[in-house]
Amino acid sequence: MLGFSEARKLVIAEAARRPRGLTTISRTPWDALGFILAQEIHTDRQYPPFDRSTRDGYAVRTADAAAGATLCCVGEIKAGDTVSSALAPGTCIQIMTGAAVPSGADAVVMIEFTKRSEDHVTFERATQSGQNIVPRGSEAQSGNIALTPGTRLGFAELAIAAQVGATELQCYKKPTVAILSTGDEVVPINETPGAFHIRNSNSVSLAAQVSLAGGEPVPLGNALDRADDLSAKIEQGLRADILVLSGGVSMGKYDLVEAVLKGLGAEFFFDAVAIRPGKPAVFGRCRDTLVFGLPGNPVSTMVTFQLFVTAAIDLLGGSEARPLPFLEATLAEPLREKTGLTHFLPARLEWPNGNLAPQVCALKWQGSGDVSALRHANCFLVVSADRQEIATGETVSVLPRGDVL
Ligand code: AMP
Ligand code: MG
Repeated sequence: MLGFSEARKLVIAEAARRPRGLTTISRTPWDALGFILAQEIHTDRQYPPFDRSTRDGYAVRTADAAAGATLCCVGEIKAGDTVSSALAPGTCIQIMTGAAVPSGADAVVMIEFTKRSEDHVTFERATQSGQNIVPRGSEAQSGNIALTPGTRLGFAELAIAAQVGATELQCYKKPTVAILSTGDEVVPINETPGAFHIRNSNSVSLAAQVSLAGGEPVPLGNALDRADDLSAKIEQGLRADILVLSGGVSMGKYDLVEAVLKGLGAEFFFDAVAIRPGKPAVFGRCRDTLVFGLPGNPVSTMVTFQLFVTAAIDLLGGSEARPLPFLEATLAEPLREKTGLTHFLPARLEWPNGNLAPQVCALKWQGSGDVSALRHANCFLVVSADRQEIATGETVSVLPRGDVL
């Protein structure tokens, strides 16, 4: 059976072969968070556009401002002030952070290292040429590439776009991800379930995971465990770039998802992965759509989505597959698991007393159907397939949930 890394590689290889970025849309920096940029963005001028002071203090000529020297202060320059005249030799000028340094001056002395008496300023320390000044054009020249196609627009990238005045950003349309749950026991969340029915929580969690990953969720409701209903609803799902099913992929008599997909012409790349929860996860393609059949137990659905589907959304969305952001943490309580499968246990990472290094504790749960165990989980603790017992204090890997950490 495939390990999760190999399974993930198959997803990445297949998703990377797909055409992407065929359709673009225009967004402003205000509403482009999480979109993938489809164009190059260039700087519109030099950065910084003037020699910029990085401190509140005095602009000087270094030669005039030796330790112990006293100079006459001839005025002040605030951030935003127009600076046209040069600093005269033998003088200094008060300057604020972000203000333009006048020509002639080649250093700014922090106010903390000066003493002022009326118009005169005494410098307490030696001055180095260039100190506390960012020279014009040292960050970027006009026309430089500021952002490249495929860049995910986070807050920093949006600031860069805003800085250079890129108010219209051509972005890739998000990949559509159809979400279809399956099961005769599943009812819509606004209905009162019968005694032996359950509400369709997977459709909600999957839609949230799709949005977080950068996809456009297309909820298709639920299909009964019957070939005709499954087939008709899967057909609808095949209009999307990606189809994610939940449930119906195990070995039960009414687990029909794989067979129905096959009947519609699907080809599979894997139909089991050596993980718990999530072992029966299926990945294939059907016509032009990538298809994931995730097991129906809610924790399995969530874990397998994070391990496999996010990478496909990244690639079809026009960017790179983000790596799984595993962290190391110290185990706070001993663990005992069966070997053979890599476990992803609902767990909580904490940084007691503001420590820089986290510790992690697996949470009590009743297995992969126990979604309430995730209430306190901010990560999944990874127990590799060959480990049976792990002692308190050992270093373990964890996979942060992504939405809460
Ligand atoms: P399955 O993978 O189809 O065997 O489903 C396993 C279990 O997951 C079911 O017995 C349900 O308890 C649960 N389950 C299946 N579908 C959903 C769903 N859409 N929302 C919440 N729980 C589900
Ligand atoms: Mg089922």
